[in-house]
Amino acid sequence: MIVRDKILVVEDELTISNLIRTILTANGYEVITAVKGSEALSMISSHCPELIVLDLGLPDMDGVELIRSVRSWTNLPIIVVSARSYDRDKVQALDLGADDYLTKPFSSAELLARVRVAIRHTRMGAPDSAHVHSGKFTAGNLTIDYDKHQVLVDGKNCHLTQNEYKIVALLARYAGRVLTYDFLLQELWGPQNQGGNQILRVNMANIRRKIEKNPAEPQYIFTEVGVGYRMVEGDS
Ligand code: CA
Repeated sequence: MIVRDKILVVEDELTISNLIRTILTANGYEVITAVKGSEALSMISSHCPELIVLDLGLPDMDGVELIRSVRSWTNLPIIVVSARSYDRDKVQALDLGADDYLTKPFSSAELLARVRVAIRHTRMGAPDSAHVHSGKFTAGNLTIDYDKHQVLVDGKNCHLTQNEYKIVALLARYAGRVLTYDFLLQELWGPQNQGGNQILRVNMANIRRKIEKNPAEPQYIFTEVGVGYRMVEGDS
């Protein structure tokens, strides 16, 4: 018997809920749905899904409240789906513990990629577990050699500075997932960091000059405008 990953879709717009269900079911996932936040909370306890796909605008509560509540007792991955174009909401959802987000309208390829990455990260355990600190990360022609602290493109060392290397290595640890500016700054320079987003922007411009063929059209590290950065999924 094939055990399929169970995904809870929390969405009050039926056309969108049905669309998500169709895409996920066609790709081998089991889907259960909830329309309200309260209903979602009880289904999480009773059905133990592997992942939640969550709309932020629910009839009975703000999706952000639901994230706060779920995060108080479980690390169950949450992908936020939102029509809101306000970056603030996405950033708030991510900083409260959502794993990723999609902005409506999204393609089925985007949805499936986010779901795959979120479920894989849960399987791997904590992202800072030992095996991701040693060995290699590869995506296309890009290789990160964690033992040597080097980033190579086409086998050639890109000679990143220490800060540039730290940024790339961190993004690769969460490859496929968006990391917010605040998360990056905290992880890299601690809560006392003072540089603000500017330090990230400057470093990213230098990183792109060194690793991307065309820094204006990056292949490896993408900017999520107003939110943060995302490293392309690694080859598996
Ligand atoms: Ca809604």
